[in-house]
Amino acid sequence: MQINQLNQIVTPLLEWYHANKRKLPWREDISPYRVWISEIMLQQTRVEAVLPYYERFMEHYPSVAALAACDDEELMKLWEGLGYYSRAKNLKKAAQLICTQYHGEFPERFEDILALPGIGAYTAGAISSIAFEQAHAAVDGNVLRVITRLTENSQDITDAGFRRQITEELEKVCPVQGRGDFTQSLMELGAVVCVPNGMPKCKECPLNALCSAFRNGTQLQYPVKKPKAPRKIEEKTVLVLRYRDRIAVRKRKKKGVLSGMWELPNLDGFFTEELLPRQLAETKPEFTADKLHIVRKERFKHIFTHIEWHMEGFLIACDAEYHDDGLIWVTQEQLASGIALPTAFRKVYDKLLPSMTPWQD
Ligand code: SF4
Repeated sequence: MQINQLNQIVTPLLEWYHANKRKLPWREDISPYRVWISEIMLQQTRVEAVLPYYERFMEHYPSVAALAACDDEELMKLWEGLGYYSRAKNLKKAAQLICTQYHGEFPERFEDILALPGIGAYTAGAISSIAFEQAHAAVDGNVLRVITRLTENSQDITDAGFRRQITEELEKVCPVQGRGDFTQSLMELGAVVCVPNGMPKCKECPLNALCSAFRNGTQLQYPVKKPKAPRKIEEKTVLVLRYRDRIAVRKRKKKGVLSGMWELPNLDGFFTEELLPRQLAETKPEFTADKLHIVRKERFKHIFTHIEWHMEGFLIACDAEYHDDGLIWVTQEQLASGIALPTAFRKVYDKLLPSMTPWQD
């Protein structure tokens, strides 16, 4: 089919969606706030991973006003493990803006939604169509995959102009009734039938009679994506410093990866067990080899969008609490319940700490 024939997909897609849609909490009791939170959580994150976070978030912050007034540490703790923490920070900023500029009512105009922190064209399209039934499209990777396969279109899906063209074509065919369902049906088809990474389930697809890629057996040739630049690799030495039942943590700088988050102390580059105490003693004179006891070390890897951290994690027993370099010492209980440690550090901590016997006073 051609890109200007997308009007043909509307009816079969909506019928399929009404009969097959997954039961998801943000599809119940639809409101702009609930749709917004779900769409932000779902960025770069699978539905199954989001579900428990979504429920917990809604219990803590059931409204824009509750989110605007939330405690930063609590917000980060609720977000811990979801990654891309700037999403949570922007949610709070946007909620505060909605309270000051719109008296706590989520704005309805597409341009006003788009102007909120952390909201791009996709999320604004999703909120305005799903929550306000407006004729806007939400074009994400799932939707691009479906459309490029239907039309055997080999344009680069990372090209902003191409995404805009698809958005406009979908907005032209958006039905008068069920605009939100139309948006969700395309996302759903891409998520469960026209799947990525392998053969789509074309026999189950309500659009197979219209689909050019299915007819020609070219499904796996679409979508076409310009190859990404390879990720930059950064080597780090990460320290789990323990004194009695306490662990040393500190806040990261306000800029860069995981800005402003808690972290385990770390150094750039890899160090051997012999070199590490010498290096530490250079920067922190009190960290001499006789005061640190290396219990265990292990390699870890953490992947961000553009960077990979290759980490050498050391579990080190200390003979005292050291307070330089912004270190603060927290109990393991605080780390479990009150302090949000990003996954890159959490995986080092979770793996290494059990190697030591628990401290008993
Ligand atoms: Fe995707 Fe297959 Fe449906 Fe075409 S027929 S849209 S390739 S699932």
